[in-house]
Amino acid sequence: MSVDLRVRLRFAALAACALAAVLTTAQSWARDDHDDDRCAGNKALRLVNGKIHTMDAKDRIVSSVLIRNGRFAALGHGAHDSDDDCVREIDLRGRTAVPGIIDNHNHIILLGLRPGRDTRLEFANSIPEALATFTARAKEAKPGEWITAIGGFHRNQFFKDPQPIRFPTLDELTKAVPDHPVFMMEGFSGPGATNALGKAFLEKNGVPVGADGFVDGGAFGVATPCTTALFLLRQMQTRDSMLQGLRDAMRYAAGTGVTTHLDQGGFPFRVPLVGDPSDGAADFDRYRAHDSVRTLSQQGELTNRIWINFLHVEEDVNTPELRARLLNSWNDFGGNMLHVLGIGEFTASNFIAPGTPAWFNGTRLVAQAQWRNENHSLNFPVFALPGLPVDWKVIIDGWQTVNDELTDPANPNRIPDGITKLRWVLAHVPVITPEYLQKLKSLGGGVSVLGGWRWLTGDSANNGPPFRDILASGIPVGMSSDGMQISVMSPWVNLYYVVTGKNARGQLINAGQTLGRNEALRLYTSNNGWFLSAEDRLGTIEEGKLGDVVVLSGDYFDQRAVPDEKLIDLHSVLTVVGGRVVHDDLNAKSKDYWKAGLP
Ligand SMILES: [Zn+2]
Repeated sequence: MSVDLRVRLRFAALAACALAAVLTTAQSWARDDHDDDRCAGNKALRLVNGKIHTMDAKDRIVSSVLIRNGRFAALGHGAHDSDDDCVREIDLRGRTAVPGIIDNHNHIILLGLRPGRDTRLEFANSIPEALATFTARAKEAKPGEWITAIGGFHRNQFFKDPQPIRFPTLDELTKAVPDHPVFMMEGFSGPGATNALGKAFLEKNGVPVGADGFVDGGAFGVATPCTTALFLLRQMQTRDSMLQGLRDAMRYAAGTGVTTHLDQGGFPFRVPLVGDPSDGAADFDRYRAHDSVRTLSQQGELTNRIWINFLHVEEDVNTPELRARLLNSWNDFGGNMLHVLGIGEFTASNFIAPGTPAWFNGTRLVAQAQWRNENHSLNFPVFALPGLPVDWKVIIDGWQTVNDELTDPANPNRIPDGITKLRWVLAHVPVITPEYLQKLKSLGGGVSVLGGWRWLTGDSANNGPPFRDILASGIPVGMSSDGMQISVMSPWVNLYYVVTGKNARGQLINAGQTLGRNEALRLYTSNNGWFLSAEDRLGTIEEGKLGDVVVLSGDYFDQRAVPDEKLIDLHSVLTVVGGRVVHDDLNAKSKDYWKAGLP
């Protein structure tokens, strides 16, 4: 029986005892049949008896909300005023709810393109939990399908310091999943591991596999055993399997509480349409990468809001591809579910080469076209050469140069505001100084910080972001996961890092820069509307805004109810996008495979 039908009618007052609940359920069934025509097409949803944190400027907490036609129509007492008995009502039974999480920089499109039945391991914090997650996932697969986990996890999360880290062995993976081939691979390009069926297939196709199931990898941009395995798996994909992949990716996101993504693209396949064995997990075919999201959008099947940036890397100093993009497509265009925003996370240069002539030319074009622009920063020296300036300095200084040129009175193509109204964003930002924060702020820019990457693989020398310094600067700051290759998507794992400063090994690596729980969650909600130029629609629970709500498995705001070490287990028990329930775990224990690792 669908929860939808059971809770459509108002019967909260009757639910005091078990008998009443049983009767009520029967009555609501009867009325549902009876009322089908009259209530058909009614799009109203009321959540009651919750601790609903609006994250608005006053930090209001309300017990109920009414969502009508996709938007919040009333909060608190006002939510009960409607006498429309077609309103579907859900009793939150005191649970904590927050605005739908906005992940302002991730790679949901790449996640949807993973070959095999992708298995998120974000909630697995030991080898047994990882194995249980694979076993649960295999139960959902059709005979012969591969069970895969490509990116978004690391061996570090299976073992606390000082235990040595390792992958599950061939025997362990074979015992956990005897009937399907399994392939797991870290980051962009491995290394990884496989089970007996996977080993047999890979070796038959020339990919070396260790006796313990280990598959070597890790190099960037060259063929390795792991990327060759990935290439072979991609050959087996069909349009249908890719649609399934995106459905699964959105289902997972909704389960963690993410309702809106700003996707930041992928690197182009070396060989268009087919790829080659050097392509890693962050590579896709530019011509076809967005087919699935367009199809599901057309079919009304998007369960998350997917906003798109276009990533540009090209060798030609004149950046013909970026020029063609800016001349022939529209920025900030689309609806509230699927929307094209701007350029990012790279502007013509590859990811270690901001400041090159191609990067400058590309950046000038984006500025002249007045598009939104985003660049990532990992505190790498340009070209990864020690002694050369680090990426964030080059980017911010370069943006200043482009802005100065554009606003120069002598420039015949002068634009008086330059880039200052375009909300250009520096993403990740493990390191930055107050001086450069002010420089970016005066350019109208913002900073997107992350947590999960440092949680997975950070250490005392590779820590940050300096959350406190960034907040103190007054620059717009929002949060993202940068999942799904080098980082986890779960906002609660990302927030665990922001709040505790600890990595997956349990080591404190970001002391002095941690944030309180409320200010940390603001980065993922109220602050993130700005990053999509949608603060009028997204980020808080307020009348008139889009009706996105997440009901949590525990009270994030209460340290006693959810101690710090338990933050990483938080997830959604009810996710609502535009008034539509897209994940429901409130009334029936969900079969979501990824929860196999949860207590
Ligand atoms: Zn990214």
